[in-house]
Amino acid sequence: MSLLVTAHHMLSADGSSLLEGHALLVDGSRIVRVGPETTLSPHAGARLDLGDATVMPGFVDAHTHVSVRPGDGDQHGQLARPTAWLALRGAKNLEAMVASGVTTARIMGEPGGIDLAAKALIDAGDLVGPRLRVAGSALSATHGHGVALGVADGVEGVRAAVRRNVAAGADHVKIFMTGGVSSFTGGLYDHHYGREEVRAVVEEAHRVGRRVAAHAHGGPGVTICAEEGVDSIEHGSLLTDENVDAIVRYGTSLVLTKSIAHHPDGIERGDASNPVVLEKLRAAREADRAAFERVRASGLPYAVGTDGMHGYLGEEIVWLVDQGVPVAEAFGAATWEGARVLQEVPDVGRLHAGYRADVIALGGDAFS
Ligand SMILES: [Zn+2]
Repeated sequence: MSLLVTAHHMLSADGSSLLEGHALLVDGSRIVRVGPETTLSPHAGARLDLGDATVMPGFVDAHTHVSVRPGDGDQHGQLARPTAWLALRGAKNLEAMVASGVTTARIMGEPGGIDLAAKALIDAGDLVGPRLRVAGSALSATHGHGVALGVADGVEGVRAAVRRNVAAGADHVKIFMTGGVSSFTGGLYDHHYGREEVRAVVEEAHRVGRRVAAHAHGGPGVTICAEEGVDSIEHGSLLTDENVDAIVRYGTSLVLTKSIAHHPDGIERGDASNPVVLEKLRAAREADRAAFERVRASGLPYAVGTDGMHGYLGEEIVWLVDQGVPVAEAFGAATWEGARVLQEVPDVGRLHAGYRADVIALGGDAFS
């Protein structure tokens, strides 16, 4: 049966403006038509009037995790917990994502196949959560940042890890290229995989139609990833001019994750008692703002992700707007730019006929 969704404001299909007096005609899980309410009313079975709200496409969290909670601190300790503990707690995280308007999420590495199981259970209707695209275990060098999410070394080792993940049902491949804020495995500009290993990952993944995402903050590791055909750079909080040039030249996607580093409920809350992590965090915040200016100056498109800050996708948008980004551009980063990164889900992120009816409503006029 068709449903007519009406509200005072509706985001236009290109995301540039708010339409008044418009409605969505939804049939099953698809948007059938978008247009002035008066023209669609005769076709409607049921009606849902959301009053003084803005109807938007559901958010795409382009980089997150099911189980870990940065604000609880010691992420590596959390990930060392039994799989059952992490998975059961993850159910609440998935609910928080949906409650915050996230309808599609790209999961960037889980231990014990938690993401693979969560995706299957959500698809079967046994678990509440957004539509998931999953990586399975991630690939980290033995001395790298992401060892809690999977270890693979050497050209043959990374090839085997990609094959294992694909066989288990992974939609994409995640590698840890540089150091990270919440670990003690080297600086954020250091990288742990060599060019040959990155090339082997890309070759293995692309041969079977899987895209490759690299955790990479800045420095030579970012440039190597772009040059070797990695599809997306994740975080990018210390991008240099050379890094930005390489990302532009090779058409690499960029996924920014800001609230984990900048929001007081992120790493700051979780690891407030750890001076090494806090020092890294403070330095990263400064450099991050400068890196973001480089991204903006280059005109590079970017998506956003919460990186485990479940329920905080709105804070990613707030951070962007605080840096002077127009609201429409910030919403774009949280909707269709995320959908572009998830190329295998081409019909989300816009209110457009034929797209999936992933529809959310924000109170009032969302542009003001
Ligand atoms: Zn992550």
